[in-house]
Amino acid sequence: MDYKDLADLIFPDAKPIAYYEEKYPERNLPEGAIVTRFAPSPTGFVHIGGLYQSLIAKTMAEKTGGVFFLRVEDTDQKREVENGVTDIVNSLKDFDMPPDEGMISDSEEIGNYGPYKQSLRKDIYQAYAKFLIEQGKAYPCFCTPEEVDHIRKKQESAKIRPGYYGVWAKCRNLTVEEAIEKIKNGEKYIVRFKSPGREDRKIKHKDVIKGNVDFPENDQDIVIIKADGLPTYHFAHAVDDHLMRTTLVIRSDEWLSSVPLHLQLFASLGFRPPKYAHISPIMKNDNGNKRKLSKRKDPEAAVSYYREQGIPADAVKEYLLNIANSSFENWRRANPDKDIKEFDFQMNKMSVSGALFDMVKLLDISKNVISKYDANKVYTESLKWAESYDNELKDILSNKEYSIKVLNIERGKAKPRRDISKWSDVKYCIEYMYDDKFFNNRDEYEFDKISDKEEIKKILKLYISKYYNEADDQTTWFSKIKDLAEELGYAREVKEYKKEPEKWPGHVGDISTVIRVAVTKRRNTPDLYEIMHVLGKDSVEKRINLLAE
Ligand code: GLU
Repeated sequence: MDYKDLADLIFPDAKPIAYYEEKYPERNLPEGAIVTRFAPSPTGFVHIGGLYQSLIAKTMAEKTGGVFFLRVEDTDQKREVENGVTDIVNSLKDFDMPPDEGMISDSEEIGNYGPYKQSLRKDIYQAYAKFLIEQGKAYPCFCTPEEVDHIRKKQESAKIRPGYYGVWAKCRNLTVEEAIEKIKNGEKYIVRFKSPGREDRKIKHKDVIKGNVDFPENDQDIVIIKADGLPTYHFAHAVDDHLMRTTLVIRSDEWLSSVPLHLQLFASLGFRPPKYAHISPIMKNDNGNKRKLSKRKDPEAAVSYYREQGIPADAVKEYLLNIANSSFENWRRANPDKDIKEFDFQMNKMSVSGALFDMVKLLDISKNVISKYDANKVYTESLKWAESYDNELKDILSNKEYSIKVLNIERGKAKPRRDISKWSDVKYCIEYMYDDKFFNNRDEYEFDKISDKEEIKKILKLYISKYYNEADDQTTWFSKIKDLAEELGYAREVKEYKKEPEKWPGHVGDISTVIRVAVTKRRNTPDLYEIMHVLGKDSVEKRINLLAE
C-alpha cells in the first residue's frame, strides 16, 4: 500500500488538481498588472484597518490595470455572525470601492475565479490536500486535542519551542498501513502538512513594505484540513491565492511571521508564490503611548463609525491616503482639485512601523472635502444622513429649495466656507437660518464688545429704519454699515480706530457684530450679507425688531 491508497481512502471523491488548474487559468492581463484582494472573515465588525487595506489594494489594482477582488474567509464557522458578509460588502460599497470580482452580496458573486466564499470551496481544498498526501507531503494526524495540549505543556515545562514538529510530531512517522488501519477503525483525524523545513536554516524574504526580512524556516507540521473538513487559514491562503491568480497579497503584518510557512506551502504544492506586502496596523496615541486602534476601546476603529457620524467616504479615503504616503499632503496642496485617483501611490513608501491615526486631522481634511462640494451635494448627503440619524435635521431640510440656498452661502468661491466637517455638524451650522428654529430656541445672544442693551437697541433701530434695504448689493450694504457707524460716533474704518482707539467707543466691525448677533444669535457665522440676503426682508426685520423695539 502506498500514499495514493491513503489519499484515496481519505478523499475518495476529490478531483485531480489538473481539473482546477485548467478551470482557473492564468489571467490574461497586461504586463505588471496587480491582482490583489481583500480577504476578511465575516465577524460582524469591519475594522478601519480593513478599509485601509482595501483602499491600498484597490488603488494598486486600478493603477496597474489589474484586479481587486473580495474573498470571504469563513472557514472558522464558530466566529461567524449573521450579516457578516453583508456588512463587508456594504462597507466597500459605502466607500465607493466595489470589488472587480468576488462577493457582491451575502450570496451573490461576480467573476470567473469563484466561489469567493471559502466555505463553498471545500472540494477544492480537499483536492489539493489529497495531492499532498499522494506525495507524502501531508498526512492524517490522529492526536486528540488533549494529546496536542499535553505535548504543549511538556514543551512549556521543558522550556522548548512549542508546536507539532520534529520528534513531537507523533503521527508524521506512522506508516501508510498504520494510518489506513486507524482510519478503517473509525479513529478521528485531521490532516497535517509534513514540513520539509529546518529551524536552524534561514530564509530570506523581500516584503514590498517591510523590505528584507530573515526568518528561520518553518518546521511545524501545521493542520491543513480540520476535523470539520474545512481548511485552516494557511492552507486556504495558498490554494485560493494560487487559483485566483493573486500576484500581490496585501494583508496585515500579523501574518508576516507566517511567510516562511506560506512559502513552504506554495513550494510543496508546486505553485509560484505571490509577492507580499504586510501593512502595519493603524496606531493611536493614547496619553503618549502608541498602541493599535482597538475594536474594544476606540469607536473610530469601526468603519460603521464614519457613516454614523456622517464623515463622508471621500474624506476618510483621502485621510487614509494621507497616512499611507507622507507625500500625499504635498501633492494635495499642489493639486487641490484633482481626484485622489490621480495621486501616484507608492506602496514601498508606506510606514514600516504603523501610521498614527489622528481624528483632528481627519476632520480637518473632511472640512476641506466638504467645502468643495456644491450646495446640492451637501444637501443630498446631509439629508441622506439625517434620514437615518437625525429627525430634527431631516425636518429642517424638508424645505429643499430654501435649504439649498442656505447651504450655498459662501460656497463655490475661491475660499469657501469650512465650517462643516461631518453631516452631524450641519444642524448646528444652519438651524438659525430657519425662523421656526430661530424664534423658538433658547440660545442666548452672543454679543461681544457692544453688550449694553440700550446701545444695541439704538444701533438696530437706526439700522433698520434708515440703512437696511434688501435690494442693496454687497458694496452698498457694507458702506451703509459704515455710514451707520459714523452716524453713531464709531470709527468708519477699523484702521482708523486702531491708530487712535481712545477716540471712539468702537469701530464698524463692532457695529456689524451687533447686527450679526441680532440676526443669528451667533458671533461666528459665514458672510452676513449673504445670510441676510437668503433670510429675506421679512425675517431680517422681524429678527432685528425683536431687539430694537
Ligand atoms: N482572513 C484573514 C484575516 O482577516 C485574511 C488575511 C489575508 O488577507 O490573507 O486576517
